[in-house]
Amino acid sequence: MEHPENNEEYKGLVVNSGVEQPSIVNPYLQRGRFARRRLTADDYVEGILKGNTAILGQAVTLVESTNPEHQLIAQEVIEKCLPYSGNSIRIGISGVPGAGKSTSIDEFGIHVLQRTGGRLAVLAIDPSSEKTKGSILGDKTRMEKLSVHPDSFIRPSPSAGSLGGVARKTRETIILCEAAGFDKIFVETVGVGQSETACHSMVDFFLLIQLAGTGDELQGIKRGIMEMADGIVINKCDGDNVDACHLAARQFQNALHLFPMPDSGWLPKVLCYSGFYGLGIKEVWDMIYEYIDFVRQNGYFQHRRAEQAKYWMYESIHEQLLSGFYNNATIASLLPRAEQSVLDGQKTSFIAAKQLLDTYFALL
Ligand code: GDP
Repeated sequence: MEHPENNEEYKGLVVNSGVEQPSIVNPYLQRGRFARRRLTADDYVEGILKGNTAILGQAVTLVESTNPEHQLIAQEVIEKCLPYSGNSIRIGISGVPGAGKSTSIDEFGIHVLQRTGGRLAVLAIDPSSEKTKGSILGDKTRMEKLSVHPDSFIRPSPSAGSLGGVARKTRETIILCEAAGFDKIFVETVGVGQSETACHSMVDFFLLIQLAGTGDELQGIKRGIMEMADGIVINKCDGDNVDACHLAARQFQNALHLFPMPDSGWLPKVLCYSGFYGLGIKEVWDMIYEYIDFVRQNGYFQHRRAEQAKYWMYESIHEQLLSGFYNNATIASLLPRAEQSVLDGQKTSFIAAKQLLDTYFALL
């Protein structure tokens, strides 16, 4: 039976009663629970390196925390894990809502675990999670088979901050997962905007899931997103939809031929599959492994990772400059007046911005 303390209704009753209630929890149990020693950065690192997923999960929570104290420990843990990271293949998986990402990731995950053993972490970048306070991407309930697999670790998107902040946390989580022995990392993202760029900047292979539709498949998809893809897969190639999928695949393949050859030297392939019926899954992964072999041999694999590390250095600078500025108490108190003076036409945007920035830098 569920413990009454965990019951929302019960909590509501207690909060609303207005009467101080005696604790119903055994005081000794409670003391034991709260007296648990706080883990040090070294404890986290030790647990992670042993592959302990409970400790890994707690460390990821620290990474996601906005509490400066947690952040300090998190950064130390990340730094200490860094030498043990990098030994994985990182796959980005993108597609619009309803494209079949979770269904596919469940199948893909089981396939790669059966095929190569090892451990799989499924992470996510969901920029909308800031508004909805909690992402559905990467949610365990969406991946029935993987969620009960002993060698998988599923983590929804971090939910706080800007897209850059959310993406940075996902990237840091990759480092921790790799140090914990996860040799396959999936990063799921919604195919609707900038989150692809963030996802692309942390993976070795970017897979775009598409659907066949009305014959004008190419119209709904931004050229930039297609250019990022190392492979495009048309999902739901089953039942009456098979011909439409093959037609869509030909259209995508033709469109890809019009793009300049990617730096990787790999011409993206287009395949059809059915995540729901588990058809064509092996072929999708043959393609991905073929790509990995190809870029490992021609040196692009390492080149891309090095470029990504550089990209994330600049992203970190941008993010920290922004948050340092906006979280500064003096700036926060000056901003409303500055904004009003620009709205009233008393100051130009440029002058108002310059004054605020000058004030900020003088404070440092
Ligand atoms: P997501 O929003 O991209 O994660 O998509 P879901 O995996 O939740 O799938 C959306 C809907 O499409 C669900 O109703 C799935 O059952 C269905 N679906 C997913 N993959 C397939 C497929 O291969 N074939 C068919 N016919 N339906 C699928």
